Amino acid sequence: MEEFLKALIQCRKCPRLVAYRESVPPPPRFFGQQYWRRPVPPWGDPKAKLMIVGLAPAAHGGNRTGRMFTGDLSAQFLFKALYAAGLSNHPYSVSRDDGTEVRCVYITSAVKCAPPRNRPTAEEVSNCLPWLKAELELVRPKAVVALGRLAWSATFRALGLKAPEFVHGAYADAGEVRVYASYHPSPLNTNTGRLALESLMRILEQAKAYAGCQ
Ligand code: SF4
Repeated sequence: MEEFLKALIQCRKCPRLVAYRESVPPPPRFFGQQYWRRPVPPWGDPKAKLMIVGLAPAAHGGNRTGRMFTGDLSAQFLFKALYAAGLSNHPYSVSRDDGTEVRCVYITSAVKCAPPRNRPTAEEVSNCLPWLKAELELVRPKAVVALGRLAWSATFRALGLKAPEFVHGAYADAGEVRVYASYHPSPLNTNTGRLALESLMRILEQAKAYAGCQ
């Protein structure tokens, strides 16, 4: 895993994303903060039974803090659900030194660099797929929770399969891995009620039970 992380944070395969991650200006509330501005490393247990796959780091979330699902509103929603499901020791994820630890869980994304407007191109998703494939081979989870359609299809592609239709709350088996589908916990989904905390909690609990997490 160490070698993987070392190689990942040096990746510059997508010129548009490299330019964006390195130059996106901080909003006033983050003025003066040192931004990470590189591919955002996954975190958690490298031998976890449950993998969570998001879309991509946020410009002022992971691209600022240097940890996936850390320091933005999507992270706060996800961590409330992880905590309620007994998979995290804190109901928040705000910085790399916040003391938050996940249990039985490894957290990553389909695309490792922050894309403008959270929308990577098809080419950028394909460029980043080998990283996700490598993670699935290294971690060998029993269950994956894919947050959003893009994470869902990228997970199946990384496993060498065509993704079935994305249905929130459903799951499909991909060889030995069971993949659960959830809407992404973005403010767009959570503020509109499309994704409720209880719904994400239920999916995490199902995946946790299937994976055999204690
Ligand atoms: Fe490399 Fe992925 Fe970042 Fe593209 S998005 S530069 S493939 S780490």
